[in-house]
Amino acid sequence: MNLEDKIDNDIFRIIGNVADSMNLETYVVGGFVRDSIMGRKSTDIDIVTIGSGIELAQNIASVIPHKTKVTVFKNFGTAMIHYTIDDKLWQIEFVGARKESYRKDSRKPIVEDGTLEDDQNRRDFTINAMAISLNEKTFGLLLDPFDGVNDIKRQIIRTPLDSDITFSDDPLRMLRCIRFACQLDFSILPSTFDAITRNKERIKIISQERITEELNKMILSSHPSDAFRLLDKCGLLEIIFPEIVALKGVESVGERTHKDNFKHTLEVLDNVSKQSNKLFLRWAAILHDIAKPLTKRYDSRLGFTFHGHEVKGSKMVVHIFRRFKLPLNDSMKYVQKLVFLHLRPIALVEDEVTDSAVRRFLFEAGDDVDDLMILCHSDITSKNMLKKQQYIKNLAIVKQKMIEIEEKDKIRNFKVPVTGEDIMEIYGLSPCIQVGILKDKIKDAILDGELENDREKALDFLYEQAKALGLKKKNE
Ligand code: ATP
Ligand code: MG
Repeated sequence: MNLEDKIDNDIFRIIGNVADSMNLETYVVGGFVRDSIMGRKSTDIDIVTIGSGIELAQNIASVIPHKTKVTVFKNFGTAMIHYTIDDKLWQIEFVGARKESYRKDSRKPIVEDGTLEDDQNRRDFTINAMAISLNEKTFGLLLDPFDGVNDIKRQIIRTPLDSDITFSDDPLRMLRCIRFACQLDFSILPSTFDAITRNKERIKIISQERITEELNKMILSSHPSDAFRLLDKCGLLEIIFPEIVALKGVESVGERTHKDNFKHTLEVLDNVSKQSNKLFLRWAAILHDIAKPLTKRYDSRLGFTFHGHEVKGSKMVVHIFRRFKLPLNDSMKYVQKLVFLHLRPIALVEDEVTDSAVRRFLFEAGDDVDDLMILCHSDITSKNMLKKQQYIKNLAIVKQKMIEIEEKDKIRNFKVPVTGEDIMEIYGLSPCIQVGILKDKIKDAILDGELENDREKALDFLYEQAKALGLKKKNE
């Protein structure tokens, strides 16, 4: 098959010409070939040459029109250049064809120089093992030893060689397999999938960073529940994310039962994913009910309850983030906040939507209020149509009220007009409980609508409150 039309671009001609001048067989391989056959855009190009990838990259960099730096990774025997096509920055990586052999305790293989065939044999899936020749005489010729083209047509992921060996050699491939199935919406060949099930324990030799990187790619796909179901089915989920597996199952006492929180969580995740591509909003969906198994109680009057799961869940976020080596920064705080507040909008209606309750909610949610509302909406998964419509109606009432109050009171980015430093300065205090109490009183009075959001008025209010506590100003 000739795929010249897929590489109809100057850069491929240049690479081919330079390779010819060096007498090197050279190919574009892997993801770029797969994506171009599927009609997917990709700006990452992997070039394999039967010789030195680094020398080839250096010679190419010296002839391409605009200057480019070659980044050499000596340890890996690879080199990278960047090249702009139609305003897009392409990343082109060069490597010499290699043959790999593995030891039991590491996913890092022993590497030797090899032929194109050796190089194709070491690749993870048939659809990732195709190469297109760039040398002038054979420009565009597809080399597809494992019938990857047909697997793309059939939408199937399978390993080129024995699946048990492929996965045992480098267990990260098990996650890549599920990730590709999910990203491309392909099925995994049953015998390939069974090999994942058999080799799942091998995942333990993979670093957490690599696992998390793959998991995040799955979470960012358009229908992430597919990945979680596959991970669960083969048993990998239990190993890498036991907290989420603990959400599975229903219990009943007499007529009373509760929903399967695993299924529910996946539905919420898909719902959120339809509305937002934000990784950490999706993480909030995954974790919003994570403490339900720990807070489940049965009460003869109320049935099953999960009181406080939002509080306990928000505390679990930090442990989970730490284990997954996710950033322990504002992104984590954002997820904690969303988990903590995810019940609030619905609860607001169930009590009574007072201005003061809405002000407090807006204050706590701050700039994340829109994301929180996406999560709340997504959390409505009841199969009971009447109930569902009632919830949606209630949320609409809260939203309307939020808009009115925000217009009126500008609470969203509200800062208490008197700071702790002000209080310490006025009363000659060092940091202590009283400073916090006074600050909270001012905040509460403003949120309750008893005090205007104004510095002078807040100071007068402070003087009154401090007096009641028996405090004297520094200069009195
Ligand atoms: P994407 O970049 O969209 O994740 P990709 O297929 O380009 O997909 P990369 O991780 O960039 O994936 O790897 C490029 C190519 O290198 C793959 O197509 C595959 O042929 C090979 N490859 C990558 N990782 C492995 C691995 N762990 N085992 C075997 N081959 C691999
Ligand atoms: Mg790639």
